[in-house]
Amino acid sequence: MPEKISIVVLDVATVTKIDVKALQLSELEDKAQEFAEPDYRARQMVDWLYGKRVQSFDEMSDLPREFRNRLGQEFAFSRIDTIRVLGSRDTTRKFLFRLADGNLIESVLIPASPALYGSRSDRRTICISTQVGCAYGCKFCASGLDGFSRNLQPNEIVDQIIAVERESGEKIDNIVFMGMGEPLANFDNLMRAIRIINAPWGLGIGARHITLSTSGLAPQIRQLADEPLQVRLAISLHGATDAVRDQIMPINRRYNLEKLLAACDYYAKRKKQRLSFEYILIANVNDSPDQARRLGRIARRLGAKINLIPYNTVQGLPWSRPSPEQQDRFLSILHSSEVPATLRREKGHDIEAACGQLRLQTKRELETATS
Ligand code: SAH
Ligand code: SF4
Repeated sequence: MPEKISIVVLDVATVTKIDVKALQLSELEDKAQEFAEPDYRARQMVDWLYGKRVQSFDEMSDLPREFRNRLGQEFAFSRIDTIRVLGSRDTTRKFLFRLADGNLIESVLIPASPALYGSRSDRRTICISTQVGCAYGCKFCASGLDGFSRNLQPNEIVDQIIAVERESGEKIDNIVFMGMGEPLANFDNLMRAIRIINAPWGLGIGARHITLSTSGLAPQIRQLADEPLQVRLAISLHGATDAVRDQIMPINRRYNLEKLLAACDYYAKRKKQRLSFEYILIANVNDSPDQARRLGRIARRLGAKINLIPYNTVQGLPWSRPSPEQQDRFLSILHSSEVPATLRREKGHDIEAACGQLRLQTKRELETATS
């Protein structure tokens, strides 16, 4: 009788070694001590990792060979591979990466964006992913279409910035967590990554140049408010009443507008910060004058500003953007309620730039090619 074979599928993130780029400086110092090496070894390491940006322990030539070997035994040193780069006429570029386990994620580089999130207009902004897929299933979004695969590790979040800087030759100075996934659902890994991105020994990007977008995880918004980091927060509102939000964002059934706005208020007060509301305009769903007036009232009450974004069509989904006249009408109602609001005639419409779209398109192409 043949022996019975059982196949156990394990989550790679739990079986592989921790990656060296998931560690803080203090943790590297602890490691140096454990290996009877002086503390300054940790400084040397972060200089190799985030200054010189080497891709193996072997290249850290001023570390003793024995120490490098032990690091290699204990930690992974993974990389993400660029498998596709799309550039559009207005020079927005989209990067598709393959992770060590084969999963695909994407980042978008938006040079010289018009005054995004209060930053100067000459900033180069990168939009990065925090999860493979997304579990929140917003009805209009490509990222949710394929369901959720896994959280990104801290190093996989940081590596998107390093890879885009390497591929584009540009220095990035503004970060938005608006790629694939729900950042606040991957809270601990996200915080680890942000600390590395923000640290002077890491990528040295100021917290006020880091914006996190959430579909409305109220408890985690409060948790973030209690963190010392002064990152900016954008809320994907997309509806000014529960009826509209319920229709397109399942999260609203768990944390309705009242709960969400109470958490937003807590964040804004605790951080003394002006929040942003993202509002995608979808024809005949959330673009009525009544929604505009209600949105204006909500934003005024919270002292928030509003970014209107015309919906980017997603293949296979029935939604579309309102006409430019309808978009302008919505904006002018907000302006007449004296709320700071911008209409982002966003770049990259022609390169599948909305979250999750390039990955979805590539996956479909690969599936068609192999079927
Ligand atoms: N999960 C987080 C962050 C990623 S989505 C969130 O939902 O906020 C980033 C932004 O892109 C969100 O505001 C989201 O609603 C928006 N978005 C998703 N699909 C879009 C599309 N097809 N067109 C325009 N914006 C889209
Ligand atoms: Fe997830 Fe954000 Fe897309 Fe909703 S909009 S499915 S939360 S990525």
